[in-house]
Amino acid sequence: LSVTELVNEAYENIKKTDGSVHAFLTLNEEAARQQAQALDAERGHSQATLFGLPIGIKDNIVTKGLKTTAASQLLANFEPLHHATVVERIQAQQGIVIGKLNMDEFAMGSSNENSSFYTTRNPWDLERVPGGSSGGSAAAVAAGMVPFSLGSDTGGSIRQPAAFCGVVGMKPTYGRVSRFGLIAFASSLDQIGPLTTTVENNAHLLQAISGVDAYDSTSADVAVPDFTKALTGEVKGLRIAVPKEYLGEGVSAGVKAAVKKAIAQLEALGASVEEVSLPHSKYAVATYYLLASSEASANLARFDGVRYGVRKEADNLIDMYKKTRSEGFGDEVKRRIMLGTFALSSGYYDAYYKKAQKVRTLIKRDFEKVFENFDVVIGPTTPTTAFKIGEKIDDPLTMYANDILTIPVNLAGVPAISVPCGLAEGLPVGLQIIGKPFDEATVYRTAHAYE
Ligand code: GLN
Repeated sequence: LSVTELVNEAYENIKKTDGSVHAFLTLNEEAARQQAQALDAERGHSQATLFGLPIGIKDNIVTKGLKTTAASQLLANFEPLHHATVVERIQAQQGIVIGKLNMDEFAMGSSNENSSFYTTRNPWDLERVPGGSSGGSAAAVAAGMVPFSLGSDTGGSIRQPAAFCGVVGMKPTYGRVSRFGLIAFASSLDQIGPLTTTVENNAHLLQAISGVDAYDSTSADVAVPDFTKALTGEVKGLRIAVPKEYLGEGVSAGVKAAVKKAIAQLEALGASVEEVSLPHSKYAVATYYLLASSEASANLARFDGVRYGVRKEADNLIDMYKKTRSEGFGDEVKRRIMLGTFALSSGYYDAYYKKAQKVRTLIKRDFEKVFENFDVVIGPTTPTTAFKIGEKIDDPLTMYANDILTIPVNLAGVPAISVPCGLAEGLPVGLQIIGKPFDEATVYRTAHAYE
């Protein structure tokens, strides 16, 4: 198969399937075909690890000259002047950017219903959500339109859609992957990561995008091991912790059954399994929504119609700001900006923001303690399988509760993968495997052995 054929096939599949799934916002067709031709000419000479592979990119990751909207009306016509570091790295390894993928506006949401363009559908059942916010990234891979995509995960946005769509999604350790060129939502939580059909492909893509970057001071100067070397199929002696809070009330019977079966399978392969407690988990959702919204309120200040954003003209500067932001942002984004601005305002800062920071430390310590005696922590990725479009959109609190099992991982900064573990009522269930900081290798090893 030539690269040209591979790329042609991707676009044919998109044309066939995306009319009903709606995963893509923008296609990069002409440039991708040209790149494919150029690669075919040098075939056989390249050592690049992503040579000719079609990759979809979430639309909050900037791509030079290719529209990048974060699914917001405010950025409806934004053409970035540079690539994000992850895109540079994909191109350095000769991967091919096929197009930009739909998401919840500014990555705020769990269902893709907050996209200001259209809602992506779950390929397993078009009446259901693909999850969010990287719903387009998960649906495109699940529907076979691209074998690889990138998403971003602030509170679960790679893992939850991966679980809902039955694909593999990895949120790396905070600092493992450069955030340069990722449109910031909550800078202390955001990480970019890969969504793929297999664990091996996932490890390949993470390998290509990982490593310190001079343009992101929070990227970590930690050696990037060869993740694929970890895929031995061996888990003998692996110490697995299962938090009792992750299989409690609110987790559906079907999800519990699938996850317990997966854990039993790992045990049969020679791993040891013990129940543990992460006692501060119950505060994670409240802590997250305070911190993430506070950071968002600061990060989104730049979308004012001057520095960035589709300007809505008015008689004076202040009215122009107001009009641009009132009309440009959707309801969920405005809700978060207001909550965040309130939590950071003088007089409330200590009661909310500072308190939330302290609870974040307690949540992090819960993990540190468990990791003194265990190699990985395992549970479900989500409490339920994919829900119906429209089912939760009018009730933000129910929607937020969906992230209860993914959020603690972002607060602690540790890596976690969601890997498919069977079906419940005909819909995919995700097994979440959480690792020590910078130990993605063990997470991949465990996921691969199970898969
Ligand atoms: N669903 C969560 C939120 O709405 C997580 C989003 C994300 O990880 N980007 O904030």
